[in-house]
Amino acid sequence: MKSCKTGADHIKSLKDARTVYIDGKLVTDVTDHPAFRNAVKSAAALYDFQARPENIELMTFRPDGSNRRVNRAWQMPRNYSEMVRRRKAMQAWAALSFGFMGRSPDHVASTLVGQRMGLEVFQKHSSERAKALADYFEEASRNDYFLTYVIINPQAERAKDWGEQAEGLVARIVDEDSGGITIRGAKMLGTSSIMANEVLVANLQPLKPGEEDLAFSCALPMNAKGLRVLSRKSYEAAAISIFDNPLSSRFDENDALMYFEDVKVPWERVFVYRDTDMCRAQFHDTPGHSYQNYQAQIRLSVKIQFLTGLARRISEAIGTTGIPSVREQLGLLAAQSGMVNAMLAGMEAEGTMRGEWYVPNRHYMYSAQVLTQDLYPRVVNVLRELAGGALIMLPSSIHDFADADLARIIRATQRAANMAPDDKVKFLKAAWDAIGSEFGSRHTQYEMFYAGARFITAGHSFRTYDWDAATGMVDGLLATYELAGELAQLQPAGGKAARPT
Ligand SMILES: Cc1cc2nc3c(=O)[nH]c(=O)nc-3n(C[C@H](O)[C@H](O)[C@H](O)COP(=O)(O)OP(=O)(O)OC[C@H]3O[C@@H](n4cnc5c(N)ncnc54)[C@H](O)[C@@H]3O)c2cc1C
Repeated sequence: MKSCKTGADHIKSLKDARTVYIDGKLVTDVTDHPAFRNAVKSAAALYDFQARPENIELMTFRPDGSNRRVNRAWQMPRNYSEMVRRRKAMQAWAALSFGFMGRSPDHVASTLVGQRMGLEVFQKHSSERAKALADYFEEASRNDYFLTYVIINPQAERAKDWGEQAEGLVARIVDEDSGGITIRGAKMLGTSSIMANEVLVANLQPLKPGEEDLAFSCALPMNAKGLRVLSRKSYEAAAISIFDNPLSSRFDENDALMYFEDVKVPWERVFVYRDTDMCRAQFHDTPGHSYQNYQAQIRLSVKIQFLTGLARRISEAIGTTGIPSVREQLGLLAAQSGMVNAMLAGMEAEGTMRGEWYVPNRHYMYSAQVLTQDLYPRVVNVLRELAGGALIMLPSSIHDFADADLARIIRATQRAANMAPDDKVKFLKAAWDAIGSEFGSRHTQYEMFYAGARFITAGHSFRTYDWDAATGMVDGLLATYELAGELAQLQPAGGKAARPT
C-alpha cells in the first residue's frame, strides 16, 4: 500500500459512473471531459504534492492506529502549535491554485474535524447518530476523501419559510424504513462536487418546528443512485488556452445544483434526523462552523497576497509605480493583505481549549469573515482602477501571435517600461482572468457569498462578540460621574446655580 493518497488514486476514484450533466448531456467520465478535466487534474495535483517525499511531513500526518498518512486537514489540533502546523499545510495547498480553489478538500474536512470535536452535541441528539458521525469521520479521514457539501437551500422565494416553498424544491425526507431514509429535492451549490468523492448534505439555514422533513444531515458517495448533478457553465471549456486563461483553464472548480431523486441514505450515514435545532447545533454548538470558515480565511490569505502581487505588476506593466497616488493605493493593498494574515494569526493565538481540542477564536474568525467579504470586491476594484484599458487592449487570443504580421503589430504596440511585449500580454491576460473574466467575476460572487449574505455573517459577529466587555467599558465611564454631583459643581459658593445659556 502507498504511504498516502496520490493524484492517480484520486482520478481513479472519480471514474465511478456519477450522474453529472452539462449542456444538456450526461457526462460519462468527468476526468476526461473538456468541461472538467483540467480542474480534475488540479485537484489530483494537490494529492501528488502531498505525496512527494519532501512534502510528506509538511502536508500529512498518521492518524492514531493507521499505517497510512493522510492530509493534515483531518488533524484535530490539541494545541496552538499543532493548529499552526495544520494551517501551513493548508496554505501550501492553497498556493498551488493561488487561492482560487475555494473548495479544495481541506474545506469540508475542516467542517468534519470541528463536528467530530463536538461529538457530545450529536450524542445529546441521539447515540446512534453520534456513532454514525464518529464512524464516518474515521472512514473519510482514513481514506483521505475529497468531500464537498451542500448545506444551503435553493434560493426560491426568500419571503417564505423553507417548509412553505414549492413541493419538491428543498431536499427533504420523503420516506424511511429499517435501512435508512429516502430524500428528494434540491440543494445549492455543490462547489467542486464534480471532482469530490462524497457530499455532506445538511441544513445550515434556520428551520422552525414543523419543518422536520427538512431537518437532516447525511453523507453520500457522489455516485449514489438518484443523485443528479447539474453543472453550471464551464469556464474551463470556454477558456481558449492556458496563455489566454491561465486560471480558468485549470482552476475552474465548478459549482452545481444537486438534485436528489429519491436517494436512499443508510442509517450509518445519517447524522441528524428530524431535529430542526440540531441542524443549527451541528455547526454552531460544535466548532464545525469555526473550523470550516477558519480554513476559508487561510485560503483567502493566499489569494489576497496573489491579488496584491497582481496590483504591483499592473503598475509596473503600465509604468505607474513611481506615482505617489499609485504607491498609496499599493500601500493600502499591502496593508489589507497584512490585515488578513494578522487576523489569521489572531484567531490562532487567541484560540481556546474545548475539552482536549484547540479551537480558533470564534469572534475573530467571524470578524475576518465580515470584513473580507467586503474587502474582496474592493480589492478587485482597485486592481481595475490601477489598470485602465490595458486589461482590455489585448490580442484576441494566442492565435494572433501565430500570424507573423499581427505578431509584429502586437509587439510594436504592447510596450512597457520593464516588460517585453510578449510578457506584458501574458501578464495582463492572467490579470484579467483573475478579476474580469467570467471566472474572475464568479470569484467575486463567491467571496461575497460563500459564507452567507452580509445579514447572515454580520449576525454571527453580533452573536459572538463580547458585548458585556464593550458595554461594560461604557458603563465604567458613566459610573465616574452623576448628574447631581456635576450639578453641585456648577453651584457658585453660597449662590444659585447659573442658568445654562
Ligand atoms: C460561487 C458560489 C459557490 C457556492 N458554493 C456553495 C457550496 O459549495 N455549498 C453550499 O452549500 N453553498 C454554496 N454556495 C451558496 C452560498 O452559501 C449562498 O449563496 C449564501 O449562503 C447566500 O444565500 P443565498 O444565495 O440564498 O442568498 P440570500 O440569503 O437570498 O441573500 C441574497 C440577498 O438577498 C437579500 N436578503 C435575502 N434574505 C434576506 C433577509 N432575511 N434579510 C435581509 N436581506 C435579505 C440580501 O440583499 C442578500 O444579499 C455558493 C454560492 C456561490 C455564490
